[in-house]
Amino acid sequence: MQEQVVYKGTDWKRFLQQVLWETYCKNPMLVCGKHVLKQQGVLDFISNSQYTFTVFTDFQPNPDYSSAIYAAGVFKSQHCDFMLAIGGGSAIDIAKCARRFACMDLSKDCLVQVPKESNIKMLAIPTTAGSGSEATHFAVLYRNNQKYSVSDDNMLPDYVVLNPVFLEGMPIYQKNSCFLDALCQAVESWWSLKANEESIAYSKKAISLLLKNYKDYSSLCVNNNHIIDKEIYANVLLGAHYAGKAINITTTTAAHAMSYGITQKFGLAHGHAVALCMVQVWQNLLDSDNRNLDNVLNSISRAFNCVTKKDALVKFKLILTELKISVPRLTTNHDIQQLAETVNIQRLGNHPVPLNVNELRSMYENIFQSYKG
Ligand SMILES: [Zn+2]
Repeated sequence: MQEQVVYKGTDWKRFLQQVLWETYCKNPMLVCGKHVLKQQGVLDFISNSQYTFTVFTDFQPNPDYSSAIYAAGVFKSQHCDFMLAIGGGSAIDIAKCARRFACMDLSKDCLVQVPKESNIKMLAIPTTAGSGSEATHFAVLYRNNQKYSVSDDNMLPDYVVLNPVFLEGMPIYQKNSCFLDALCQAVESWWSLKANEESIAYSKKAISLLLKNYKDYSSLCVNNNHIIDKEIYANVLLGAHYAGKAINITTTTAAHAMSYGITQKFGLAHGHAVALCMVQVWQNLLDSDNRNLDNVLNSISRAFNCVTKKDALVKFKLILTELKISVPRLTTNHDIQQLAETVNIQRLGNHPVPLNVNELRSMYENIFQSYKG
């Protein structure tokens, strides 16, 4: 996999100019949410640029396959030659897929085709600190309410801008759920069977940055304080980026796999749903009798500044309480069974212990029992 060029700082326009110049492109496509155009002079920049930007904003959170196909069609018809994504995980995922699909026959299924070789470069600017999508070579798309993971080494963005100022004004719920997504990614990656020295180093860095900064990061917004402490934002953004780099190597495990059903059923933010599942998945691992896993759980605990392996989960639950993470009101036994059955068990191959439908069902039961209200 190629190395990314990561620019950390606020002068994103100059960096982008330089990249566009170096890559000899003429017609970049910008994929972003509509609100992003008003942020940090984005619209001014593209309007006054010497390049002809094509702007694509026509997609929803948890983006659909058809949106990515549509974006790829626009990319082709406008003869675009560079992909710029500014936004959260959905914008960056759409851009990653559109760049890939643009090198395919759009009249056929793009989830099964191999793309023609291309030299289209991509730059991603995350405006949330959580998904880590700017650091991964895969993306999530939905087709007919089914989740698909599109993955290829070439999907990793070539350039990344980590500019803390883009986090300004994020609503508190989104902020907290993105933060939890990043924290869960870092932990899941650590205990993943695919973890290696490099991924664990990223997990460690991510957990340390996220835990050191989350209180200030979260309370800044609660107080509606417009004076941004850029350093805190920069630290959380970097923490989320490291978590992305960790799962880029290992992918995620059961907490993520279990979360998709909850997101779809209750419309919770992704990180919120992952965090609810995480509590049960973590407890399940603590209960399993496995010496190798014990070592891993103890190491994770030390990264949480805790003494015993159980303490890190206690700390994680405390964070959920502090961030006022609620549990949706459930629901029938039938719903629970359905949630358990829709988890893709084959995709749990890198989870450290095998899980069957019964165990999944009992974890879902616990989620909705433990936080009734
Ligand atoms: Zn996630």
